[in-house]
Amino acid sequence: MINICKGTCIRFKAIGYKGRRRYEDGQKLCPVCTEFLTYAGIRCPCCSVKLRNTPRGNKSRKEIHEKRKCVWH
Ligand SMILES: [Zn+2]
Ligand SMILES: [Zn+2]
Repeated sequence: MINICKGTCIRFKAIGYKGRRRYEDGQKLCPVCTEFLTYAGIRCPCCSVKLRNTPRGNKSRKEIHEKRKCVWH
Protein backbone atom coordinates (compact mmCIF):
# COMPACT_ATOMS: atom_id res chain seq x y z
CA MET A 1 0.00 0.00 0.00
CA ILE A 2 1.64 3.18 -1.19
CA ASN A 3 0.24 6.55 -0.30
CA ILE A 4 1.00 9.46 -2.55
CA CYS A 5 -0.10 13.07 -2.59
CA LYS A 6 -2.72 13.56 -5.27
CA GLY A 7 -3.05 17.28 -4.75
CA THR A 8 -6.51 17.08 -3.14
CA CYS A 9 -5.10 18.30 0.15
CA ILE A 10 -4.77 21.82 -1.24
CA ARG A 11 -8.50 22.25 -0.66
CA PHE A 12 -8.08 21.40 3.04
CA LYS A 13 -4.83 23.21 3.54
CA ALA A 14 -4.74 25.09 6.83
CA ILE A 15 -3.43 28.60 6.95
CA GLY A 16 -2.83 31.21 9.59
CA TYR A 17 -1.05 29.38 12.39
CA LYS A 18 2.49 28.57 13.30
CA GLY A 19 4.04 25.98 15.58
CA ARG A 20 2.00 23.81 17.88
CA ARG A 21 -0.91 26.25 17.99
CA ARG A 22 -1.98 24.50 14.80
CA TYR A 23 -2.72 21.34 16.68
CA GLU A 24 -4.65 23.15 19.39
CA ASP A 25 -6.82 24.59 16.70
CA GLY A 26 -7.65 21.15 15.39
CA GLN A 27 -5.30 21.23 12.45
CA LYS A 28 -3.60 17.99 11.51
CA LEU A 29 -0.38 17.22 9.77
CA CYS A 30 -0.24 14.82 6.88
CA PRO A 31 3.23 13.23 6.81
CA VAL A 32 2.89 12.37 3.14
CA CYS A 33 1.59 15.68 1.85
CA THR A 34 3.65 17.52 4.47
CA GLU A 35 0.78 19.95 4.86
CA PHE A 36 -1.33 21.02 7.78
CA LEU A 37 -4.96 20.33 7.01
CA THR A 38 -8.21 21.53 8.49
CA TYR A 39 -10.02 18.25 8.27
CA ALA A 40 -12.28 16.43 10.73
CA GLY A 41 -11.41 12.90 9.64
CA ILE A 42 -8.68 10.61 10.89
CA ARG A 43 -7.16 10.02 7.50
CA CYS A 44 -5.95 12.46 4.89
CA PRO A 45 -8.64 13.14 2.27
CA CYS A 46 -5.87 13.28 -0.29
CA CYS A 47 -3.54 10.33 0.30
CA SER A 48 -5.56 8.49 3.03
CA VAL A 49 -2.61 8.33 5.37
CA LYS A 50 -3.29 8.70 9.07
CA LEU A 51 -3.06 12.33 10.10
CA ARG A 52 -0.85 13.48 12.95
CA ASN A 53 -2.79 15.50 15.47
CA THR A 54 -0.29 15.88 18.28
CA PRO A 55 2.95 17.81 18.40
CA ARG A 56 6.21 15.92 18.24
CA GLY A 57 7.85 17.53 21.27
CA ASN A 58 7.37 15.69 24.54
CA LYS A 59 6.56 18.79 26.49
CA SER A 60 3.92 20.17 24.20
CA ARG A 61 2.53 16.69 23.69
CA LYS A 62 2.03 16.33 27.41
CA GLU A 63 0.40 19.73 27.62
CA ILE A 64 -2.08 19.02 24.89
CA HIS A 65 -3.01 15.68 26.43
CA GLU A 66 -3.63 17.30 29.76
CA LYS A 67 -5.80 19.84 28.03
CA ARG A 68 -7.81 17.10 26.40
CA LYS A 69 -7.93 15.10 29.64
CA CYS A 70 -6.97 11.93 27.88
CA VAL A 71 -4.68 9.20 29.17
CA TRP A 72 -2.49 7.30 26.78
CA HIS A 73 -1.22 3.87 27.64
ZN1 LIG B 1 -1.88 15.70 -0.62
ZN1 LIG C 1 -2.05 13.51 2.64
